[in-house]
Amino acid sequence: MHELSIIELKDKIAAGEVKSADAVKSVFERIEKHDPVIGAYISTFKEGALKAALDVDERIAAGETVGALAGVPIAVKDNMCVSTGKTTCASKILENFEAPYDGHVIEKLKEADAIIIGKLNMDEFAMGSSCENSALQQTKNPWDVSTVPGGSSGGAAAAVAARMCFGALGSDTGGSIRQPASFCGVVGLKPTYGRVSRYGLVAYGSSLDQIGPLTTTVSDAALMMNVIAGHDKRDSTSISTDVAPVKDYLDGIDQPLDGLKIAVVPELNAGASQQVKDAIEKGLDVYKGLGAEIVEVAMPNVEYAIATYYVIATAEASSNLARFDGVHYGHRTEKPKDYIEVYSKSRAEGFGTEVKRRIMLGTYALSSGYYDAYYLKALKVRNLIRQDFTNAFEKADCLMMPVSPTTAFKIGEKTDDPLEMYMADIYTIAVNLAGIPGISIPCGFDDGGLPIGLQILTEAFTEDRLLRIARMFEKQTEYNTKMPKL
Ligand code: GLN
Repeated sequence: MHELSIIELKDKIAAGEVKSADAVKSVFERIEKHDPVIGAYISTFKEGALKAALDVDERIAAGETVGALAGVPIAVKDNMCVSTGKTTCASKILENFEAPYDGHVIEKLKEADAIIIGKLNMDEFAMGSSCENSALQQTKNPWDVSTVPGGSSGGAAAAVAARMCFGALGSDTGGSIRQPASFCGVVGLKPTYGRVSRYGLVAYGSSLDQIGPLTTTVSDAALMMNVIAGHDKRDSTSISTDVAPVKDYLDGIDQPLDGLKIAVVPELNAGASQQVKDAIEKGLDVYKGLGAEIVEVAMPNVEYAIATYYVIATAEASSNLARFDGVHYGHRTEKPKDYIEVYSKSRAEGFGTEVKRRIMLGTYALSSGYYDAYYLKALKVRNLIRQDFTNAFEKADCLMMPVSPTTAFKIGEKTDDPLEMYMADIYTIAVNLAGIPGISIPCGFDDGGLPIGLQILTEAFTEDRLLRIARMFEKQTEYNTKMPKL
């Protein structure tokens, strides 16, 4: 059963051929067997999931209409608030935090009758690219357990790759859906900024954060988008559907784009490893075989994306994380001398090293003497980067590039050098600075059998076209059907 896509499974459940309860049992058998090694889940909701599945089965047997994901086991990254269970953000400070409400996407999943089976590991507060910053556990890459699954949505990518859920939701501030999807050989979509409400998502960089699906097929990502996309007045950045209507992302997904023009950025690609470059070239050949034309473009400002992002994201993080003060949420130090110690000790004990580094960097960038030099400058460069994308989309329908310069690296290989880890975000973070949608789809393997992702980018609010372009590739290749040997 675990080899089915979401669409295959939900069709079988709707037709009464498969019981949702059996799908849930099968998924938990896999979790119990493989997760002690992989470590993707921080918590699971077995009892609640079985109960919800039995309810869906009963409603289907009674001939009732059910939702678009009826009976399908789905897992979510542990920075999305659920009313049943914990929301830890993989941090000691929230280790025992129970949110009193469901986030917007959780409500949407429930309305669609999906079965929420558990919460997935991540880098603490979504800061990182390897899950090594999780304060709770290290997730391993199912393709090679000595390597990282990527991050920060590493638990989500690993769980989908190991078929320990049928699909998952992650969040992407600077690549955290696409990069782990690439490392684990699954599909990961970061929608346009504003397309999916972040109400109930613990904020990291508010001008960058976006929720999106991780799945085994492009069509499954489209189906999940149908469920989660739309306007929500509780998130002030959520776009009105009058301005940007929500499409049916499955409608026409199998229709190739005629006369497709693909832009590539040769100077940018030069930074990737030879094996990654080769896989991207082969990927482009697939599109050429389908009649696509490749055009070269320059994006002169993207080289400043890392510096820009790490000023803006840390500035926003320092402000967002001020709410974890030992009073409002989570951990409080035991015997504070005075109220200053309530704050300082609770935070010192609760946050990990990377989170502290970013709070300090961000506070520094926002401080009165440095605001103009760093933060304001970064905002200006952000506009230039956005302009690079606008220029590229005047010449082509989409951009294609690697997701990450390398395949999954060894656990521990980069932990001593945070800057080296930041540098590896070069292909993903400019996309968040520009707010446009991006997808990673499996496009090959390196010599060691580790997956490689192809990144495709289109203009804001054109996820329908993005998914169609991705689907063109998937129909011609079989990379997404390969599974890690566990
Ligand atoms: N790796 C980037 C960071 O550490 C992106 C993380 C993310 O997208 N949440 O900030």
